[in-house]
Amino acid sequence: MRGHRRQGLWLAFALHRASGLLLALFLPVHFHVLAFALNDAAKLDAFLAWTDYTVVKLAEFGLVFLLAVHLLGGLRLVALEWLPWSGRQKTLAAGAVAGTASTFVLPERDMTALHRHDTDILILGSGGAGLFAALHAQKAAPGATVTLAVKGLVGKCGCTRMVQGGYNVALGIGDSVERHFMDTIRGGKWLPDQDMAWRLCEQAVVRVRELENEVGCFFDRNPDGTVHQKAFAGQTFDRTVHKGDLTGIEIINRLMEQVLSRPVERLQEHRAVGLVPARDGSGLSGVLFIDMRTGDFRFVRAGSVLMATGGGRRCTSTTPPRATRAWTGWPWPCARG
Ligand SMILES: Cc1cc2nc3c(=O)[nH]c(=O)nc-3n(C[C@H](O)[C@H](O)[C@H](O)COP(=O)(O)OP(=O)(O)OC[C@H]3O[C@@H](n4cnc5c(N)ncnc54)[C@H](O)[C@@H]3O)c2cc1C
Repeated sequence: MRGHRRQGLWLAFALHRASGLLLALFLPVHFHVLAFALNDAAKLDAFLAWTDYTVVKLAEFGLVFLLAVHLLGGLRLVALEWLPWSGRQKTLAAGAVAGTASTFVLPERDMTALHRHDTDILILGSGGAGLFAALHAQKAAPGATVTLAVKGLVGKCGCTRMVQGGYNVALGIGDSVERHFMDTIRGGKWLPDQDMAWRLCEQAVVRVRELENEVGCFFDRNPDGTVHQKAFAGQTFDRTVHKGDLTGIEIINRLMEQVLSRPVERLQEHRAVGLVPARDGSGLSGVLFIDMRTGDFRFVRAGSVLMATGGGRRCTSTTPPRATRAWTGWPWPCARG
């Protein structure tokens, strides 16, 4: 081994060991402080304020510096011991140094920035209810701006997409809205709001026609061309309209296509985190969101707000939908009366 390589090897070895030792002392202290800070919200706030101090920033710098030195010392050892010190390795090492250094020169993001957006009609959620609402709002008031805000991606989130069984609607000969209504009330052990249940059963007939004739859904059919309806839990009549077992996907995809072809503004991956009351107490002035891609806050001021955020599926510990499918704001309307 040539002289300068032997010297370099010894230096890399010493640096590697020294920085490793310092890290071993530093890291337990660091994590102990973190565990202490994250104990409760008040301590976390205090900790975050504390991280603004120069001495804390220097300690953070020291930690990253030690990690970089340790890593580079190790890399150098491997390079000198096993490989000839070629131009490529120098480039690799220079890249690692530049990468570490760049973390200190990148501008700090201002996490308190608040973006603003104005709209006439704001719809929260893009399941079946939200997409239908956007279509109807746009049709009823073509001059108004309609904004669809959702914490996932339009067409990809919400429980509607998961519907496999199908859509209950009284269409068949011998069936009726009254019978569908009674099945719904009995199935709900007489707990459902009866006016709402009636409206649901009555409107199902209108909505399934709209889904087929205006939105473009293809549902399974009988050989005579009538819509196929199958048996479903709690129903005394075969009234479930479906497309194989992909009914939700059919409904959501067709609704999404209709919404995308209209001037409906979309705020995707925007999680609503609070309803903001009007200053004079007359109602809502808008909704506060977190843009989940950037972490920025966005306030959407709206003439009217429609909540189509689905059911509180994750109120229980065992539940099929993942986080983007379930409503996370169910306490808000209760809190606002
Ligand atoms: C596995 C499964 C199978 C089902 N099968 C059937 C069936 O066969 N037949 C049937 O009739 N029903 C079925 N259901 C029930 C049915 O899916 C729902 O009742 C219906 O889809 C609700 O529609 P929705 O538009 O109100 O809500 P969803 O489709 O759930 O849409 C809610 C939307 O709000 C968004 N959202 C929630 N919180 C926020 C927030 N804080 N900020 C921004 N956006 C938010 C969500 O991301 C989503 O886009 C099933 C449900 C599940 C989970």
